[in-house]
Amino acid sequence: MAFEYAPAPESRSVVDIAPSYGLFIDGEFTEAADGKVFKSVSPSTEEVLSEVAQAGEADVDRAVKAARKAFQSWSALPGSERAKYLFRIARIIQERSRELAVLETLDNGKPIKETRDADLPLVAAHFFYYAGWADKLDHAGFGPSPKPLGVAGQVIPWNFPLLMLAWKIAPALATGNTVVLKPAETTPLSALFFADICRQAGLPKGVVNILPGYGDTGAALVAHPDVNKVAFTGSTAVGKAIARQVAGTDKKLTLELGGKGANIVFDDAPVDQAVEGIVGGIFFNQGQVCCAGSRLLVQESIADELLDSLKRRLSTLRLGDPLDKNTDIGAINSAEQLARITALVETGEAEGAERWSPACELPSAGYWFAPTVFTNVTQAHTIARDEIFGPVLSVLTFRTPDEAVAKANNSQYGLSAGIWTEKGSRILAVANKLRAGVVWANTFNKFDPTSPFGGYKESGFGREGGRHGLEAYLNV
Ligand code: NAD
Repeated sequence: MAFEYAPAPESRSVVDIAPSYGLFIDGEFTEAADGKVFKSVSPSTEEVLSEVAQAGEADVDRAVKAARKAFQSWSALPGSERAKYLFRIARIIQERSRELAVLETLDNGKPIKETRDADLPLVAAHFFYYAGWADKLDHAGFGPSPKPLGVAGQVIPWNFPLLMLAWKIAPALATGNTVVLKPAETTPLSALFFADICRQAGLPKGVVNILPGYGDTGAALVAHPDVNKVAFTGSTAVGKAIARQVAGTDKKLTLELGGKGANIVFDDAPVDQAVEGIVGGIFFNQGQVCCAGSRLLVQESIADELLDSLKRRLSTLRLGDPLDKNTDIGAINSAEQLARITALVETGEAEGAERWSPACELPSAGYWFAPTVFTNVTQAHTIARDEIFGPVLSVLTFRTPDEAVAKANNSQYGLSAGIWTEKGSRILAVANKLRAGVVWANTFNKFDPTSPFGGYKESGFGREGGRHGLEAYLNV
């Protein structure tokens, strides 16, 4: 079956996007000191959604001062009181989840099926989960009375805008820190709606501040002398720059960076289930997922059968309007990201890998890339090593479990991996040898606020989620 463009959208009218938004500082929306603005564009249509204030150094300073002032009273509140605010925020997110899902789909380009069923439920779950910790920090195993760090400067990417915000803000507030957060320049809107939710929840002024802007805004936030903790999710290159910037200061740092996850399929794997896991692993959010299963390692004896099933399944996916509830593959987040994906795919072809995509017509406006599978890939190929961050799967084969482990670990990254086999003993044996922060068995891309998440090697350090996620915001 060919791909279809299916224009039967979820109603856009559930979200009211204002023509312009300010920065959110000290509980108020305000213009940038120098009056700068930038446009937020919908990647599926190239429509301008809104004009957003762009924070400069003076705004960063104002926001950090507001967060510092708020820290006095916020950190002194009993945990049970902080919990009430977090529970309230979680409930408002649930109440407004349809509106937020449509907004996120418009601003990011991902299918409504994903924002509705994955992003938004997880966002609320993180606030509920960390609300539950706020009055139990003395019993979290960190010793008596662990103390918050102070003002957290947080910089997030565009692939899960609201979920990355939740990963960062929920544990920071639960532990008594205050926050200045910079959303990505291509997806600022859901963070600004979150600012409105903070007001709706009655959160004291200055506890959360939101500063849209580009990389220089992020760099100014990281550099601000009164920021005590830097939490960054994004590319490995920028993560390294931030590590250099923070070195020699007393700031604490956690980095969640890139990945090149291996999805390892053994000859005894349940094939249909594995195919679903491979598809979800690399085509969820158009592959713009740090822990995507972008390398398929399949045991040689079943490679042909598995690839046939995979190609049949890919031919049933529907690419098109992200607001259509039947859409599986949405738009790429930006023209820049599309150009990066295109360049790496061209490199894959030039280096001799074999490229395949299902028959597919791409919409004329917006940023689109057809699901792509590369075979005849070796470990020397660029597409087997570099993070593509797009809907592109590189297929390699192996003969023995040891070879699978060696190939999976042959990466500068170490964020995620998947194992598909009926043998429980093999799952444990292989998982223990993989140098990856998360290893899934007979599933992929499963997230839960109770589980710590983070990388080995150049995928970063520190953990977000679970009890470990509290530690990043405490002096213990
Ligand atoms: P990016 O590093 O270009 O940008 C991320 C954020 O950093 C944006 O808000 C950006 O404005 C800001 N930024 C850019 N330069 C900066 C600087 N010098 N100082 C401070 N902030 C700066 O990454 P991206 O292209 O937006 O996101 C994709 C990358 O993020 C991928 O590599 C992906 O793997 C990674 N990622 C990792 C995780 C994880 O949990 N490990 C999650 C999502 C995305």
